[in-house]
Amino acid sequence: MELNQEALSIIETLESAGFEAYAVGGCVRDSLLGLVPKDIDITTSARPEQVKALFPRTFDTGIEHGTVTVLMRNGGYEVTTFRTDGKYTDHRRPDHVEYALSLEDDLSRRDFTINAMAYHPEKGIIDLFGGREDLRRGVIRCVGRAEERFTEDALRMLRAIRFSARLGFVIDEEASQAISHLAPTLTYVSRERVWEELKKTLISPHPDYLERMIGLGLGPYVDPAFAKTELLELKGLPELAEDLNVRTALMLYRFGEAEAGRILRRLKTDNETRHQVCLLIAHIQEKPASSGKEARQLMRQVGREEARRLGDLQYGAHLITKEEYTLQSEFLCSEMSAPVTLKELAVTGRDLIEAGGEQGPSLGVHLSWLLDQVIDDPAKNNRETLIALFRQHWYNCNDSLAKAALEDNQ
Ligand code: ATP
Ligand code: MG
Repeated sequence: MELNQEALSIIETLESAGFEAYAVGGCVRDSLLGLVPKDIDITTSARPEQVKALFPRTFDTGIEHGTVTVLMRNGGYEVTTFRTDGKYTDHRRPDHVEYALSLEDDLSRRDFTINAMAYHPEKGIIDLFGGREDLRRGVIRCVGRAEERFTEDALRMLRAIRFSARLGFVIDEEASQAISHLAPTLTYVSRERVWEELKKTLISPHPDYLERMIGLGLGPYVDPAFAKTELLELKGLPELAEDLNVRTALMLYRFGEAEAGRILRRLKTDNETRHQVCLLIAHIQEKPASSGKEARQLMRQVGREEARRLGDLQYGAHLITKEEYTLQSEFLCSEMSAPVTLKELAVTGRDLIEAGGEQGPSLGVHLSWLLDQVIDDPAKNNRETLIALFRQHWYNCNDSLAKAALEDNQ
């Protein structure tokens, strides 16, 4: 395993000051798998104040958990003091965190064997629980007794699903049984954290492993809707691009837009995600675009990116054929730079006023009408043509006041 220069230099600085320091957790796991680690976490015997004294640029990330972020040129590194977790009484968080004296104590509080390895540039990999072997076998196994570890922190049950889906691993028998038994304790976990895990599982290479989550009985405790397995679409998920909104929409579309919105609200997703997923579901029955004009109409209706996502969703849900999907994608692609929003019109409201239009709600109606013309024929999107069209349209509008105004103006 190799660490980048910055991580090495953090470890070196801590060690020169007489402390122990190791890279730990996800970065060791990912490096052993030949993947590029997202970030490098460091565990150390130094206390947070001592870490802060050694580096010029730091900020407190989770000081109550002993974590300080050390800022280096290319990014931040979380440096956490060796710790053990105190007693857990709420199935989620330790009542208090205690600093530990040894790396071993720190590794044994971690959730799975594959996440409980450390690396030191001279000592190499420290693997006290058979993490490497589990990586080789493709198994998610708890550090210690599964029943105990899931009882301490119920979120770990969803983390087991998430890591199995990310890596294509199985969850070992002991952990599976413990999950089946303890599934109801997931209600102690905040919905934000539940969604966070669900989200990571959805955009993993094996989103269909959510079926394991259901199979192990976690579904109803993720959300009551997940008990209605006949409405959940999970099998088609891996065929979709790794796009959270499309995958979420596919998973929930059979519930319909309104119910899907309620489910996502209960899961406390951000509003943006909820709106986009609901928009996709609302338009799922839309006829696929089979001409440039229809592609522009669709983009106007739902937005450029969403039109592409909608196609993915419809195809994933087997509502359109491969041919329809391909044709629509081609038209969306060739029309990508066509004007499809009011902002992209070659005229603004101000231009229309200058051309004799009146301030007020009718201005918006005119602009929208002009956009209709441009959707029909993008070549019309130039100032001169649009102003001429506007004058004519306004004149034709059965509005004598408007006519008078226009005549005055000319
Ligand atoms: P990712 O690449 O998704 O960030 P990760 O392994 O870094 O994967 P994190 O959630 O960032 O996962 O956690 C970092 C490390 O902290 C884990 O590898 C694990 O050792 C430990 N850890 C995190 N959450 C828990 C938990 N709920 N219970 C026990 N250990 C945990
Ligand atoms: Mg991480």
